Amino acid sequence: MSSNNLKFIENFRQVNNLEIIESQSDVKRLSKDFYNYSPVLTEKLDGCFADLVVRPSDHNALMKVAEICWEFSIPLTLRGSGTGNYGQAVPLFKGVVMHMNRFDKLEDFDPDTGFVKVQSGCVMGDLNKQLEKYGRELRLLPSTWKTATIGGFIAGGSGGIGSIRWGFLRDPGNLIGLEAVTMNEKPELLKFNAEESEPLNHAYGTNGIITSLLLATDIKRRWYSIVIDCIEFKKTIEILKTLTSAAIDLKLGAILEGEIVDQMPTWFKSKARSHKILIQTTLGGIRTIEPICKKFNVEFSLLGEEEKLVNGISEVVWNHTTLHMRSRDKNWTYLQMLLPLNNELELISVIRKKWNKKVLWHIEAVSQQGSPRLAALPVLKWNGVEELNEIMDDCKNLGAFIFNPHVLTVEGGGLGVVDADQVKAKLKFDPKGLLNPGKLEGWEIKEQFNI
Ligand SMILES: Cc1cc2nc3c(=O)[nH]c(=O)nc-3n(C[C@H](O)[C@H](O)[C@H](O)COP(=O)(O)OP(=O)(O)OC[C@H]3O[C@@H](n4cnc5c(N)ncnc54)[C@H](O)[C@@H]3O)c2cc1C
Repeated sequence: MSSNNLKFIENFRQVNNLEIIESQSDVKRLSKDFYNYSPVLTEKLDGCFADLVVRPSDHNALMKVAEICWEFSIPLTLRGSGTGNYGQAVPLFKGVVMHMNRFDKLEDFDPDTGFVKVQSGCVMGDLNKQLEKYGRELRLLPSTWKTATIGGFIAGGSGGIGSIRWGFLRDPGNLIGLEAVTMNEKPELLKFNAEESEPLNHAYGTNGIITSLLLATDIKRRWYSIVIDCIEFKKTIEILKTLTSAAIDLKLGAILEGEIVDQMPTWFKSKARSHKILIQTTLGGIRTIEPICKKFNVEFSLLGEEEKLVNGISEVVWNHTTLHMRSRDKNWTYLQMLLPLNNELELISVIRKKWNKKVLWHIEAVSQQGSPRLAALPVLKWNGVEELNEIMDDCKNLGAFIFNPHVLTVEGGGLGVVDADQVKAKLKFDPKGLLNPGKLEGWEIKEQFNI
């Protein structure tokens, strides 16, 4: 570290309510996330660490951190719980990681709208517990909800449990507003309404330090978990589609191919080999699902109320499916895609013919712009980047929309295009480009857009 850098540490030491973490092992641990699900990212990120980590306990300390980073032109990367899969919270150019976990308070709840105002470092499991006393719950949860923060979910996640009903985090109506601190000479705490929040939503913390969020919540329901056994894969898709178009409350609808089921934890596996449909619904919903299962001639088991289960099905869906596959064999990696509408089976059968059991199918029901749709997080055996690209190209050519989980930038993992509003927000709130540098592609090429 240069003497200049040492000086910035001295400045941090003068700040009240700021913990400074310098131990090499802690700094390394807090510079990492779950990028190792991607061998491509592992190669790029294994050597990336911050110089030090800071943990502010109040707004004043947080704003001082921004001011010092500005003064010394030090990169600043934000961290919630570090459960992202894209290396979102990994500093590419050293500098400071700011751990947000002390910003963990529920600040306000409005019973008329059901909107909750919560600090960004609040863990979603804790937030949901607090919402319970108002008879509410979060609409959307990643399968990491027990440990991940709400700020990290908004800045780095996309959707998950609840997406079957509420779509994705960037859909209008989910995020109502936020407060964020700017990275300027004199950092300011600004309030953003829903429209103004859009460029900061899913921007990997590249254009503002989110301190609190205003979110829509749902009425708390008692969700029951059901597993439907199915011998024919084709039928699983027909059944899931029938359920998503029925007039019932659903929190989750997923399909795991038999070979994936075999590698799930022992509590979930069944003796007979079958594909499984996983559903979370209400007691009322079960009444409708029962005759649908009869019609399709398939068996279903009611596991019980999800919250009361020792092991719930929330632990084997979304990217937790990949987690369990990888705990068996680290050569499993994954893809994320929206399957072509009404052509899902055609894509799966063509990919199966060509790639056989190298690609195994895990499907999640989602709502896309208000309509039921099937997304997939297939797991695949790693056999080099060329094969990975070929599989992605095959899926694209068959009509899938890929959200590539093997890239570092906001754009690469999302729609693949630069969002000029995100870049404009960065120019305004982080003109030196110090927030999580290297993650917003549009910033690197902003001249092309006359921004
Ligand atoms: C097994 C597994 C399952 C997963 N399942 C899902 C899933 O179902 N759905 C899903 O969307 N994701 C999923 N993820 C990814 C991840 O867990 C979630 O997106 C999670 O919400 C991230 O929260 P975090 O607190 O860990 O954020 P982090 O990983 O710490 O940060 C994520 C991004 O947000 C930025 N950030 C954090 N705090 C702030 C802040 N206050 N202001 C501005 N920027 C900030 C960080 O810089 C980083 O770019 C999964 C990951 C794993 C390993």
